[in-house]
Amino acid sequence: MLVAKSGRQALSIVHEQSVDLILLDVVMPELDGFSVMKQLKSNVNSQNIPVIFITGLESSKDETYGFELGAVDYIHKPFNSSVVLARVSSQLKIIQQRNDLQQLSEELKQASEAKGMFLANMSHEIRTPLTTIIGYAESMLSQNIPKNEWTDAVNIIDNSGKHLLSLVNNILDFSKIEAGELSIELIDVELDSLLQQVHVICEQQAHKKHLNIHWRFNGKIPRRIKTDPTRLKQILINLISNGIKFTEQGSVTIVVSALNEQLHFEIKDTGIGIPNDKLSSLFNSFTQVDNSTSRKYGGTGLGLSISCRLAKELGGQIAVESQVNEGSTFSVFIDLINQAPGETFDQLNSDTNHQASQQTQQVFKGKVLIAEDHPENRQLFSLNLSALGFEVNAVDNGEKAVQACISDDYQLVLLDIQMPVMNGIEAQQLIRSCGLDMPIIALTANVMKDEIDSYLAAGFTDHLAKPLDQEQLLTKLNKYCDNDVSTQQDVAIPQHLLDELRQKFKQSFAQYTIELQTAVKQRDTKTLASLAHKFQGAAKSFGFTEEAKVAELLERYIQDSNNNISQTSQQLINLLNNE
Ligand code: ADP
Repeated sequence: MLVAKSGRQALSIVHEQSVDLILLDVVMPELDGFSVMKQLKSNVNSQNIPVIFITGLESSKDETYGFELGAVDYIHKPFNSSVVLARVSSQLKIIQQRNDLQQLSEELKQASEAKGMFLANMSHEIRTPLTTIIGYAESMLSQNIPKNEWTDAVNIIDNSGKHLLSLVNNILDFSKIEAGELSIELIDVELDSLLQQVHVICEQQAHKKHLNIHWRFNGKIPRRIKTDPTRLKQILINLISNGIKFTEQGSVTIVVSALNEQLHFEIKDTGIGIPNDKLSSLFNSFTQVDNSTSRKYGGTGLGLSISCRLAKELGGQIAVESQVNEGSTFSVFIDLINQAPGETFDQLNSDTNHQASQQTQQVFKGKVLIAEDHPENRQLFSLNLSALGFEVNAVDNGEKAVQACISDDYQLVLLDIQMPVMNGIEAQQLIRSCGLDMPIIALTANVMKDEIDSYLAAGFTDHLAKPLDQEQLLTKLNKYCDNDVSTQQDVAIPQHLLDELRQKFKQSFAQYTIELQTAVKQRDTKTLASLAHKFQGAAKSFGFTEEAKVAELLERYIQDSNNNISQTSQQLINLLNNE
């Protein structure tokens, strides 16, 4: 508390020090309280300090005048000190609330600016690859690019498409995190093979910039850990890719150690570094070190915030240290609690390539039933599961699936949804009504959340998206099936079998085109929708991405009764004729 013996002294204190509240007498020699108040209000530095008059002037005219000058309260003398105290503390509370509101409004303003900036960046990020895709596609259509250069052009389109996809995935991850819907699946993972996969992906990026990636292992690292492999890979790839992106010369080094029941990865680069005052906001969403970063390096400012949240979900955290122009070190910690001691490793196997490491997997035991009406897809899934060690029975409709379940024991059932005779949902319900409780997984090209929710609500244990992603498949199989961890086998499907299946599928295009044309001619949208749907899953599995996309679009247009149905059908027919 500061005390002034006169109006002048009060003014000089206020100009020198910061004051939260003033109690001001009115009748004073030289400069009275009302004049002091006028001077306070005329100065920007003091005009917002709340003033309470405390005076012997009793007339309502004086009191009104005091409020007119801007007082927040007016106390008469003689005063009761506890009343004064109560009124002062009530004013201080108001001041505190006002300050809190101001800070909140400042934070909201910053968040809204960051979102605005994010939208501008995002639109730029999306437009860049789209412009490339459209530009090349148009040039090809108008024959501006000669046919002998089409492979290069398609590669560019493919790369831009993949870049867009990763952008969309980032946004989806982010919105899942925001909605609290991020799911983590902890399973047994072979860490050395996971790191090998990360290495292969990042090495390609580093190679393009003539940078080296080094891995160092501090002591022995457990080979088998329990974690969510997709998420751990996502974190490491994001941090290593950032290291590569923000480094022009030198290297990115990853140091791995296992300490105090935690796995620790240090990702060190020799790049541009990050200023000290930016370090604390780095993990916020949509934040980049400065706006020129996005112009120069691209990106959305979402990667670190997603990685940080994922690390938390895996029981750990991410920290950062950096020196401008010297480089940055990001540290990721992941919990290793409750891991049984076992084999260890201290280096990556440099001979093992990505494919091979992925294809040597544990062997599963038991019988699996698959119901899928598309013949080549059915064969592909069967091959895939047989290669993993299962005994597989594959049928082409729901009714046969129910019959198979009644007459034999299955450890797992995979059901396509749209099938002739009996669809997957009915089949699943009939199987359950027979008292059978094995896990039943919906196999579907529909990956929208509400569709998946509806399958789960209908009684399915889980779902798997078509085309089958090997990693997702293994995650689910590990969850629902017994495996023999002591045995390893090569689970790769022989290439000639894959080629044969793909060829067979391609041969079906002629017949499929006729069916499509007939349905279009007869304006039979129901058949058209089912043809489009049936085709998609297999087309994706065999790498006919463009055709799959158009079929997917066609199905959506039919659902929405959109005007483009016949045009899109024709587009699909053209694509198929060109294959
Ligand atoms: P993005 O890279 O998509 O912008 P991130 O969330 O991954 O988003 O990174 C946010 C920002 O943090 C980057 O834009 C960059 O300014 C800074 N940053 C991240 N990693 C590094 C690094 N290794 N070196 C320098 N700056 C970095």
